[in-house]
Amino acid sequence: MSDVIRVGVVGASGRMGSEVSRAVQDATGLELVARVDVGDSLDDLVRAGVQVVVDFTVPAAVLGTIRFCLDAGIHCVVGTSGFTGDRLAEVAELAAEHPAVGIIVAPNFGIGAVLMMQFAAKAAPFFQSVEIIEMHHPDKVDAPSGTAVQTARLIAAARARSDAGPMPDATASGWEARGSLVDGVRIHAVRVRGLVAHQEVILGSAGETLVLRHDSLDRASFMPGVLLAVRAVRDRPGLTVGIDDLLDQSA
Ligand code: NAD
Repeated sequence: MSDVIRVGVVGASGRMGSEVSRAVQDATGLELVARVDVGDSLDDLVRAGVQVVVDFTVPAAVLGTIRFCLDAGIHCVVGTSGFTGDRLAEVAELAAEHPAVGIIVAPNFGIGAVLMMQFAAKAAPFFQSVEIIEMHHPDKVDAPSGTAVQTARLIAAARARSDAGPMPDATASGWEARGSLVDGVRIHAVRVRGLVAHQEVILGSAGETLVLRHDSLDRASFMPGVLLAVRAVRDRPGLTVGIDDLLDQSA
């Protein structure tokens, strides 16, 4: 059997799907054998002998792709957004019914963004205050960003595991100027024309601050993470959420 992985892209005509198609074509050890978008049949994936599917579509479509692929024994790498707790639980159930197939669902394939989240969680217990500012272009429909929410959750979990107390905040005015609370962590969402996708985590204690900042400047930034997942998914049966474990293994 050849070592080349046969890859299919679903959502192939979209912004991310086009970039993924190019990245797969240019990557060694991978062969792009199917490109599927609206109007095409998922059966094309089976006809083309696809081993790993990459899905960047829409939340309404992605579960159908996952069901089809698991039934067909095709491993999945999923970047489509919208995987809240309930939807992830549904995917976990489907994955459990197909124990030989791997599925990686990642809300952020940007390696820098994932590392920023890890660094923020590592630093969070050592500071009295932690707040998140996420900054995006004004065409983004969701706020706060999924990455900011995930960062807040990781920060809150890290503080809960340590003896970090509640964050100081004497705000008493009625203005809504203090952002949204996610698991006790404040997120401020900025929407400005000209921005792409940026996030700062500001940590502070008496006499010092630490600022972690990540900037996504181009969709190309997601490709190393996507390719890492494509190469790893066949060896990871069951559901993997996020690419953190993959980064640990490749470090
Ligand atoms: P897009 O609108 O440019 O592309 C989506 C594509 O999916 C379109 O070509 C559309 O025709 C296709 N599509 C829709 N329904 C389909 C179906 N039933 N079958 C096949 N194809 C279908 O969007 P985009 O900017 O490429 O983003 C796609 C998704 O990826 C979004 O959910 C976005 O939030 C997410 N995203 C995730 C990451 C990450 O790192 N995980 C990064 C960027 C974007």
